[in-house]
Amino acid sequence: MSSDQPSAHFEGTGATPLAGVGTVRWYEPGRDLSLGEPPAESETDTATEMERFETAREQARTELETERERTAEAIGEEEAAVFDAHKQFVDDPQIVESVEEAIDGGLPAEYAVGEAFEDPIAQFEGMDGRMSERADDLRDVRDRLLRLLTSGERVDLAELPAGTILLAERLTPSETAQLDPDRVAGFATVVGGRTSHAAIFARSLGIPAVVGVGDALETIEEGATVLVDGEAGTVTVDPTDAQREQAATSRDVEIREQPVATADGKEIEVAANVGTLAEVEAAVQQGADGVGLFRTEYLFLERDSPPTEDEQFETYRDALAAFPDGRVVVRTLDIGGDKQVPYLDLPEEENPFLGERGIRRSLGPDSDLFESQLRALLRAGAAEDGRLSVMFPMVATVPELEAALEMVESVAAELEREGIEYELPELGVMIETPSAVFLAEAFAERVDFLSIGTNDLTQYVMAADRENERVATLHEPTEPAVLRAIARTVEAGHAGNAWVGMCGEMAGNPAYTELLVGLGLDEFSMSAVTIPAVKEQITAIETDDAEALADRILEETTVDAVREHLEN
Ligand code: PEP
Ligand code: MG
Repeated sequence: MSSDQPSAHFEGTGATPLAGVGTVRWYEPGRDLSLGEPPAESETDTATEMERFETAREQARTELETERERTAEAIGEEEAAVFDAHKQFVDDPQIVESVEEAIDGGLPAEYAVGEAFEDPIAQFEGMDGRMSERADDLRDVRDRLLRLLTSGERVDLAELPAGTILLAERLTPSETAQLDPDRVAGFATVVGGRTSHAAIFARSLGIPAVVGVGDALETIEEGATVLVDGEAGTVTVDPTDAQREQAATSRDVEIREQPVATADGKEIEVAANVGTLAEVEAAVQQGADGVGLFRTEYLFLERDSPPTEDEQFETYRDALAAFPDGRVVVRTLDIGGDKQVPYLDLPEEENPFLGERGIRRSLGPDSDLFESQLRALLRAGAAEDGRLSVMFPMVATVPELEAALEMVESVAAELEREGIEYELPELGVMIETPSAVFLAEAFAERVDFLSIGTNDLTQYVMAADRENERVATLHEPTEPAVLRAIARTVEAGHAGNAWVGMCGEMAGNPAYTELLVGLGLDEFSMSAVTIPAVKEQITAIETDDAEALADRILEETTVDAVREHLEN
């Protein structure tokens, strides 16, 4: 139905700059988990209840692991990290202890879980800003355990009919991650803010979304036709023809196969982060100009021994063939930290993120692997038309960089002696440590490009583990200190005639595109799914305005002030 006037209109917070029209499906996952009065203590067998609780925890861990993998694949590593946090909650000693105490006191496991989560949820709810969103995570974990304990059915959000507008009181990270952008035309929630996981995931998935509409949303009936406008932050029941038309044009972000430029003509390379050849294919389909980060450690995982030089050669050659006109930046092995490879027998370290990872291993215990990888790369560079670039991860000192560059030279000399065809690639270094930021001038004098890895750079600048949800609010790339590190790197890189790109997750968030263009980045590399939105964003930017925005933001000293500029 459509008419000249919509029948109702609601306002909330727009989460994705997209709009969609569809048919309302209310999502009420039986979260009204009031269990009634518990049975009498004499009817409960403590040992059985303890076992039921243990089994539910085990199943929860398995589910979380699957959902984590699916999210990492469909959305990205950063978003998938929330499931690690959920696993931490499943094993949180305090929570586990209070559940066990409640079971000991005679409660069945599901009642004990309900009770044990009450206080921690209330505590987080009482906190400010993003900490309060942790309450959502706790509810998600509690509801998962309750469902597993009460054999509750799971609503399959991945199988909603095409053209669904999903309305819910709230959506947890695991629920949002299941949504299929081809089926869900949009969603709106009663509660939630721009930085809630639901909003973040919606952006990554490219689903129109409005959050925090308030209780008024509940007046919308199942089956109604609704327009969700994530740009305006509005939800409209029975939208007019004109409103629907506008939504239809903004729903699909155009895939631009050609390189894009800002409105005033500055060309910006938009490339993809990949770990496999399948991802290279997805990158081509989303209109990537090339690959900005090939995480080669993925070629070493899920197997019993390292790939041979020839196997690697073929993979790199195929990646180059996929982008005959583009650049393919391959990062040498970044093993260690959170990336463990069982057959390499990595040492147990107190602080793996501060330990032997990346170039430290390549110049140390993994030097043979480093050498064979470089041989494969130099050979692949000669085999195809595409432009190969090679960069080194986790470099903290000039001697490390020089040793890596010397290794490239010596591998080239060896191939020369053996009469094997090779080509020297463009060479670069990742800026992931504070030390690299301070040495960026010296690095830029020695290489062709710098690529800022904001995932690690943020973790090391802010001293906030990228894996630890408890300090997730500090692992924030728009923190003024991180932005200053980025600005400094770009300046130093350009002074040394190196081009400067960014391949951390920050580069794939269209909300930051204008700021990053203003800071002077030449290249952005991101998960393939976000490429169309970032390309679109770039075409609308005037570099003068972007630079002025960056200047204003660089004067700010708090993340909230930065956020305010970005939201305006
Ligand atoms: C980074 O640290 O930002 C990066 C791109 O590398 P990874 O996420 O693979 O550590
Ligand atoms: Mg990194």
